[in-house]
Amino acid sequence: MSEVTLQSALTCPRCGHVKVETMPTDACQWFYECEQCHAVLRPKPGDCCVYCSYGSVPCPPIQEGRQDEHCCQ
Ligand SMILES: [Zn+2]
Repeated sequence: MSEVTLQSALTCPRCGHVKVETMPTDACQWFYECEQCHAVLRPKPGDCCVYCSYGSVPCPPIQEGRQDEHCCQ
């Protein structure tokens, strides 16, 4: 069993605000609203969720090497 980090520091690309969030293990987060500037973040092309695009660590399925079975499918 590999250790999966569930805490990810999301950095807002618009204002640079950083917020540590706990990632869900069973669902993909497609939208995230910055608490500071209220910009709604969406994943970059090729990324499955906002944590993969803007977080300090990728989402749990990616960490476990399960990127072939995308968490959002
Ligand atoms: Zn922001």
